[in-house]
Amino acid sequence: MSKPIVATTALASCFGCHMSFLDIDDRILQLIDLVDFNKSPIDDIKTFTKKCDIGIIEGGVANSENYHVLKEFRKNCKILISLGECAIMGGLPAMRNNKDSIESCLKEAYQDSPSTINKNNILPNDEELPMILDKVYPCHEVVKIDYFLPGCAPRADLIWDALVALLNGKEIDPEYKTYKFD
Ligand code: SF4
Repeated sequence: MSKPIVATTALASCFGCHMSFLDIDDRILQLIDLVDFNKSPIDDIKTFTKKCDIGIIEGGVANSENYHVLKEFRKNCKILISLGECAIMGGLPAMRNNKDSIESCLKEAYQDSPSTINKNNILPNDEELPMILDKVYPCHEVVKIDYFLPGCAPRADLIWDALVALLNGKEIDPEYKTYKFD
């Protein structure tokens, strides 16, 4: 019998939520028995090759590539989970939402900050860079999200419990002790 398929991605984020996922430790061996992975940094599959049952999203939407990837996840995954504060409310990258404009944000990041060394005073301008969006959006403002797993990063036990529940056809009902907000 074919196994449920899981896909994961990291948008505007620090990869800490994926690190927390790996903190399920030796349960990863059980997970490999329970599911197959498709597009994910875990197996390094870069594009969807089949429809997936569960998509796990780390990070918010800060640029055109993040937007495109999130839309692809919604199209290819039956259930979509926002994993961690960056996916749920933008997290640290969303601190730039307080700036008046993208121009002032880039100026502060690449020209004016005390730690910046930028002798030629150049702003990033390579045409291959994805277009930066006007602000950082939480995932649910871009696509429908089915479940939210809070934390920075969410505890491994929370991720494990949620996956096991969904794989058994149950709703996610995590114990409060598995929540982590710092
Ligand atoms: Fe990193 Fe925390 Fe954002 Fe996860 S929620 S990507 S751990 S900053």
